[in-house]
Amino acid sequence: MKESRWNSEASWNTPAPGELELVRRFLNTWRIDDSTRQPADELPWLLSDRRVWEERCPGWPVGGGDAEELLARLREDLRGALGAPEGWAEVLNGWLGGYPLVARVVGEDGEASVRYEPGPEAGFAGRVLAAVARSVEDGTFFRLKACPDCRWVFYDKSRSKTRVWCGMYAGEGGRACGTISKVRRYRQRHKAGE
Ligand SMILES: [Zn+2]
Repeated sequence: MKESRWNSEASWNTPAPGELELVRRFLNTWRIDDSTRQPADELPWLLSDRRVWEERCPGWPVGGGDAEELLARLREDLRGALGAPEGWAEVLNGWLGGYPLVARVVGEDGEASVRYEPGPEAGFAGRVLAAVARSVEDGTFFRLKACPDCRWVFYDKSRSKTRVWCGMYAGEGGRACGTISKVRRYRQRHKAGE
């Protein structure tokens, strides 16, 4: 399995802030493969090798409760919640019901906030859900998007938050999904006009 996509600083791979980046990496363990155009699932491979897992998700080990089937379902549900379609909050709440967060008050220099952390037995899935909950609160969750073509999850840093495609230009392991789509639309229009 190629690791090329993780070795790049290209915009399609812009890291999400803080722990949301590990969520993004987790979501990208499933994608449409660049060369075969077929769905590719890295989860079984990653789970079979703790060293590779640690490289991909540093500091977030898998625990006893993190079965492959459960993680695959969590990944699918979180991907389905990207872009906040109808019912997305219920889906997240369903998961949070099984992984209750622990609230901690953090205070320093006269400022205080409440921080939500995974419960003591939460494992990887609980960490993912805690990070997702925090990102919903600070709004960064809504900047995570899946490319409509290759399904790669990228972090939209644009001011307007209107980025649609993972990238416009191929190279460094990225795809030119935006340009491919433009060409396709142009051809369709051209054909329709004939
Ligand atoms: Zn794409």
